Order: sequence, then structure tokens, then C-alpha cells
Amino acid sequence: MKEHLQHPVFSIISAVADEAGLETYVIGGFVRDLILKRPSPDIDIVTIGSGIELAQKVANRLGPAIHVSVFKNFGTAMLKYQELDVEFVGARKESYQHDSRKPIVEDGTLEDDQNRRDFTINALAICLNQERYGELVDPFGGIQDIANKIIRTPLEPGITFSDDPLRMMRAIRFATQLHFTIEPNTLNAIKDNRERIKIISKERIAEELNKIVMSDKPSVGFKLLNKTGLLELIFPELAKLRGREEIGGIGHKDNFLHTLEVLDRIVPNTNNLWLRWSALLHDIAKPATKKFVEGQGWTFHGHNFLGAKMIPNLFRKMKFPMNEKMKYVQKMVDLHMRPIVLSEEEVTDSAVRRLLFDAGEDIDDLMTLCEADITSKNPDKAKRFYNNFRLVRQKLKDLEERDHIRNFQPPVSGEIIMETFGLAPGREVGLIKSAIKEAILEGEIHNDYDEAYHFMLKKAEELGLKPIL
Ligand code: ATP
Repeated sequence: MKEHLQHPVFSIISAVADEAGLETYVIGGFVRDLILKRPSPDIDIVTIGSGIELAQKVANRLGPAIHVSVFKNFGTAMLKYQELDVEFVGARKESYQHDSRKPIVEDGTLEDDQNRRDFTINALAICLNQERYGELVDPFGGIQDIANKIIRTPLEPGITFSDDPLRMMRAIRFATQLHFTIEPNTLNAIKDNRERIKIISKERIAEELNKIVMSDKPSVGFKLLNKTGLLELIFPELAKLRGREEIGGIGHKDNFLHTLEVLDRIVPNTNNLWLRWSALLHDIAKPATKKFVEGQGWTFHGHNFLGAKMIPNLFRKMKFPMNEKMKYVQKMVDLHMRPIVLSEEEVTDSAVRRLLFDAGEDIDDLMTLCEADITSKNPDKAKRFYNNFRLVRQKLKDLEERDHIRNFQPPVSGEIIMETFGLAPGREVGLIKSAIKEAILEGEIHNDYDEAYHFMLKKAEELGLKPIL
């Protein structure tokens, strides 16, 4: 393994550890990622003794500019060296109580420390002491599991998951990120222990969900969450999208599978976490709005509006940010039907201008979402939608160049209206302002000061107002 420990920080840690007489290893995710040839910005160092003491000695050797952050309660210390975060901890033995994922911690051996790791692939250690430099310690066959692409717990999986139920989310997250399979016993133990997820904080769950959402193929993770029964417990609204119903031979699509397809389809087109969440949530209100209408079949009227209304509560429950990110997702869910409806009819300029006005800066993201939403298996239908979308995109571009609606600022301000007619702020100012906006969106006038000014004079006259000058 020597050849893998290229970074100069390893030889420095090695020398310092030898001088201090501390048996020391690099362990966990960094070793796993080394073997997988994945980039890994965090290095975990475990030593048989005090991690804090070792960190301070290494920092002294690296130079005066190196700052060590010490977390006494956890017995850990961290330093930044070049682009790397290096964390030091003393080897420990952990034992768990039933009602908490916080273990009782004691000093331990390397073996104790490897036993407390979540998966065989995360329990690999490489010795850094000179005599054994580069020696791999792999007590659970982690290397073999990496080769076979398997997620497996080092000890009995039921105990591993019951001790710390967050590991169930981590198993599914790693399987999704790494394209690994969860070994059957491990998977069954997740099913058996799923209820234990209730002791895990929403924030930790959200962190894992976000990593699944940001993976190459998030549907894998959500299908595993579903299969293990975790989905219903952590995200019941998404679980409700499952299934197809049929009346008189007419069925509707399975909205859970459709949603996952949309999410996978949006992945190559965006790294924006919240656009990906918008894909996952775009049809969230379908179960609540579903109806069978004689002669029409299944309808989901208003699922976009109701969906947008559900977002704040969902975000609150998931402990997601209640700020402009939430508003953005709300807007995406609210507007996700508009480009489709628009392209089903004749694509008029005014409808495109209105879409541009409502979506503003987020218009491109909305179009990306809507294109991902075309999952029709009928190639003619899908082709027609794509062609219409191309037309919508072209019109959006042309109209934006002409009318600059995207960042709409009224060409004639409220102040000008008030000054021109000697008005105090009030209803009439609002009426004139919105009439100008409507005229621009309808294409009666351009988004231009002179045209808007003339239009204002005409509108004011209709209201019986006269300029004071
Ligand atoms: P990523 O950086 O993608 O989250 P990672 O494996 O490096 O992956 P960390 O959360 O940084 O994840 O954890 C570092 C190591 O600590 C893991 O490789 C694993 O050995 C151990 N570990 C982390 N969380 C747990 C846990 N809940 N139970 C047991 N071991 C854990």
C-alpha cells in the first residue's frame, strides 16, 4: 500500500508517531477511496493512545501556521494541511445502550476500533509506523468486498444497525454512491431494524438523503429505502406516490417510479441540489388530488398548486432550510406544468412572456425540470413534447432579447405615476402599474420607457386622471 501514501503528510505523521512511540494508522473512508481511486479530502488517523497529543505533535512539525482544533469531549483533534482535513483520534471501544446512538466510549486496541466501524469497506487500516509502513490491516475482508462491490457489516448486522440506526441510511447511501450491492443478511437486518431509525435526528437523515440525491443514480437509493421499509418512516409523502390504480380498465402511471425516473433524468443536467429536490417533489401532491372522472380517466387537478403549498411543511419536517431554497423548490413545483400546457396548445408570445415573468431568473432550471418530466414511453408523444419545448425555448430566447422580462422591472415606476398625476400612494397607482405590466406581457407595448409612458397617459385618462403639468 506504500505507493498509495504519496502525500507528504503521511511521512511526517509516520516520523512523529515513531518518535512518540505511538502505533498509528490511516483508517476508514480514506483507505476505501484510495482503493476505489476516488478523491477523498478527509484523512482519518487513529492511534493507540491520545489522538489529541499526536495531532499537536504533528502540527508542531508541520510549522507554526498550522492550527489544531481540539474536541476534548470526543477525544479528537483536527488540522488542515494544504487542501486536506486530517482528523486524529485515539483507538476506542464502543458499547451502546438501547435508547441512544451515543455509545459509552473507552480506550481500545486497533481491533476494537475496527469492530466499531460500520462496514467492512470502511474498516480498513494502513499502518504508518516506519517498520510496518504501508501494511494493510483488513480483519473483515474489506478488500474482497470492494472487489465484489458489496456492503456488509463487520459484525452481526442486527447489532450494528440497532446500535446506531444511522448506519442503515449510510448503507443505502454508500450502495447508491458506489454502485455496490447490500449483502442479503445486511439488507434483511435493515428491514428488521427499520423502526430504530426513529432515534436518529432529522438533520442526520437529511444529510444522507442529500448525498443520495446528489449521486449519479439516486433512484437506486430511493428504491432501497422503499424495499427496506425505511421510506415510509422517513419520507411518508414520497411513499404515498407508490402504486397504480385501475378503474374500468383505465390505469394511471405509478407516480413513485415516474418521480424517480424524472430525478435520474435530471442528474446529467444539473448539480443543483435544490433542482434535484424539485424533481423529487414535483408530483408530491398527486395522491391528494387524484380523482377518477367518468369519460376523462384519472386526473390530478391542481397537484402543482397543492404541491407548492405542501413544501414549507415538508421542509420544516426534514429540517431543511426555510429560506430562498425552500421558495425556489416551491416555485419549481408550482410552475412545473406550465411549459407542458403551453406547448400542448399554440405557443403564443403572451403565454411565453407570462411564463418568463413568473419564473424570472429560474426559467432555465424550470425548463430543465420539465424536460426531465417527459418520461412517456410513446416515442411519437415524447418527440412531439421535445419539439414543442424546443419551440418554447426559442421563443423564450427571442422574447427575452426583445422585452427583458426575466428580471422584470416596471419601465415606469410608481413614483413617476404619482408625480405625473399628483397622486398619493394608493389604489390608482397600483391599477396603472399593473395595467402597464399586463400590456407588456400581452405584447401590446414593448418593455420600454416611452411606450410605457404613453400607455400610462392613456390608461390614466380612462380613469379620469389628468397630468398636473
Ligand atoms: P463520506 O466522506 O462519503 O461521508 P466516509 O466513510 O469518509 O464517507 P465519514 O462520515 O467521514 O464517512 O466517516 C469516516 C469513517 O468513520 C467511516 O469510513 C467509518 O469507518 C467510520 N464511521 C462513520 N460513521 C460511522 C457510523 N455511524 N458507525 C460506524 N462507523 C462510522
